Order: sequence, then C-alpha cells, then structure tokens
Amino acid sequence: MTRFTDKQQSGEGHAAVVRIEVERATTRDMRRRNRSTLLSELFFRGPLSRHDLSRITGLSAATASSVTGELLQEHLIVEAGQIESDGGRPRVLLRVNPDFGRLVGADVGETGVKVELFDLSMTRLAAVDEPLPSSRPAPEAVAGQLLAGIREVLGDTDPADVIGVGIGVPGTVEQSDPVRVHAPTIGWRGTSLDGLLRDGGVTAPLFFENGAKSLGQAEMWFGAGRGAANAVIVLVGSGVGAAVITNGTLYRGASSSAGEWGHTTVVYRGRQCRCGARGCLEAYVGAEGILDRYQQVNPGLVRSADELADVAALIAAGTPEAEGILAETAGMLGAGIGNLVNLFNPERVVLGGWAGLALGARFLPQIRAAAGEQALEHPFGQVSIELCELGPDAVAFGAATLPMAELLRRASRP
Ligand SMILES: [Zn+2]
Repeated sequence: MTRFTDKQQSGEGHAAVVRIEVERATTRDMRRRNRSTLLSELFFRGPLSRHDLSRITGLSAATASSVTGELLQEHLIVEAGQIESDGGRPRVLLRVNPDFGRLVGADVGETGVKVELFDLSMTRLAAVDEPLPSSRPAPEAVAGQLLAGIREVLGDTDPADVIGVGIGVPGTVEQSDPVRVHAPTIGWRGTSLDGLLRDGGVTAPLFFENGAKSLGQAEMWFGAGRGAANAVIVLVGSGVGAAVITNGTLYRGASSSAGEWGHTTVVYRGRQCRCGARGCLEAYVGAEGILDRYQQVNPGLVRSADELADVAALIAAGTPEAEGILAETAGMLGAGIGNLVNLFNPERVVLGGWAGLALGARFLPQIRAAAGEQALEHPFGQVSIELCELGPDAVAFGAATLPMAELLRRASRP
C-alpha cells in the first residue's frame, strides 16, 4: 500500500509527461489516419476535388485542405485538371500520382512464373511469363526466375522507385518472419523465398500471399467483388482455392490457411488428391482432376503438357463422354459453391481462375443450379454467383495490390 502511494506521488510529473506523449501519439495517429483515408479515396474514386473529399469522408474542409497540401508536397498526389463548380471558383481535381513509384506483382503459379510492373494507377507497364522448370521446382530455381523477371520488367527503372514487390504463390502463406510457404502440390514445405530474393539484390519490401487471396483482393478492389462486404472469390485453375471476405476483411484463420476450399472433401474416400488426402474438390474440378476423369471415360485421349489447351479441347469436343464429364464438373463445382454459401453466407460468390472462367462461360447456369440444390434455401436466396471481371490471369495484378494496400494504409512508402 505504502509503495503504491509513493509511486503515485513521485509519478505525478511522469504521468503528465506520459499524458503529453499519449496526446502526441494520438494526434500523430489521427493525422496518419486522415492521410490514409484521403489517399485511399483518391486511389479508388479519384480524381476528386478537396470539396468532394471533405463531403465523402466527413473530414472538415480545413483538414482535407491541409492534408492534401501535405500529400501534394510529398508528390504522393498530383493535380488532375479542374471542374466548374456551381457559381463558385473552378475546383481543382486531385488524384494519386501514378509516377510516385512502381509496383511489382508476380504470380508463382503451378505451371509458370509471371512478373509484371505497374504504376500507381495500376496501369501495367511491362510483363514477362516463364514456364516453371519442373512441376516440383526448387525454391532457388523459382527465386532465380523471379529475379530475372523483376530485372526484365524494371528495364531502365531505378530499383529505388519500387514501392514493393508482391508475390502470389500456390498454397498457404504463413505471415511469419521470414514468410513461409506451405505448398504440397509443388513440393514446398515451410519454404522461404525472402533470403534468396534479398541475396539476389531485391531491396524493396516483399509481400507474399496465396494466389487465390491475391486474386481475391484484385476482384474486391476493381472487379466483380466491388461493393460487397461479404464475398467469396474462388479460383479454379490447376489448383483450386478461395478468398473469403467477411465484413470487408479477408478471413485468414490461425495461420493464414483459411480458404483452402480445394481441399475440402466432396467424396469421402474419393479420388486421390495431390495434397495427400482423398476426395478433395480439387481432385475433381482442378484442371488435372477434370482431365484425369475425362481420360478414364476416353482412354484414347492424348494429353499435351498444356492443361489450358487440353481443357479448352475438352470443352469444344462435343462428344457424349466430354459433355458427361463437363456436366459432372459443373455439378461438383456448384456443390462446392453451395458449401461456401452454407458456411459463410456471402452476398456474392465470384468464380475465377482460367479453368473457372472457361467452365463458367458455358456452364454458369448449371453451376448456379447445382449450388442451389446443395445450399440451404435462405442463404442461397441472398447470394449472387458471378464470373471474375479481371480475366483468367489476374493473380500478378492482385499481387501488385499488396504493396499498394500497404502504401494506402501508411500513406507513405512501406
Ligand atoms: Zn486435397
């Protein structure tokens, strides 16, 4: 008791100092939040005037004006012409400065490595695409391809201008330090690329994310997910995955593996899956699963090394065997979506990935019907099932949104 009192007495001056520090920190936090809010509005909805910004965000005109002044001075935003206002002076429009820096987005897929360069308006400036050296590539080989790709897309660009490098990978990304990738389908177990990329000379901040989650962020920002607070973006390609967004936030689970939809069971003790388990959704609706099942009913089938071309040929075949496999695939995909509807009650499910889009282009009504047969009536009545809008190949684009998200959050270089 005595000690407590002593401490309290001698601590009075200290408490005042602490209070001032806390107030400073609060003012700083608020300043940063305001910067982030205004920069994000300009990124997603710009060009906008200071008047628009104040109206949309609820910040006072004085705050909007002083914060945008600061952002202009730091070249994070630029003026973008003027608009007439009713009776008053013309209003200056503002937008994010596309040349404040560059973003690199990469997609380490199950068949190839793609690297793309973007400005801050998310305009693609350069792209390279290389096939993987093997179906179970060594991390050193993939890091080598990423480094060569980054060098190539950068060209004459000063590496110091790179805000960050986002990399989409197959499998679970554990957001530890260093980041670890668990991708059994390509033979990676707790693999880290950080050191290899740093040794190769990459100095910009690195961001790793699961490919489906990268695609999910891109579709939520600019595609079919826009405006939805509760959505599931599903990716069907060689692998099958999903990004679950609840109340506007990506659902990760305890160690970021949430959304491994491809490895949920659709047939107890069914087909062998690449993950080691049996009866997974991916073993039926992933590209390899589709082609394996087709081969079973069509033993004369000659397969190439190009799954994309083989799936396209299956869709175009028109034989009863081919149509049977496609109908079954659409049914299983729909049933898998029905599971998502029952588990997460999304307002929207967005189907993407190259195989998902190829199937969806012809079978979306059947996929919707199968989802409706399996899902509970009430949540199914609330959900729309749509196709991705950013094309079959948006993982690298999605990966580039990872450093952009960090820039918007901090309102300064990550
Ligand atoms: Zn599996």
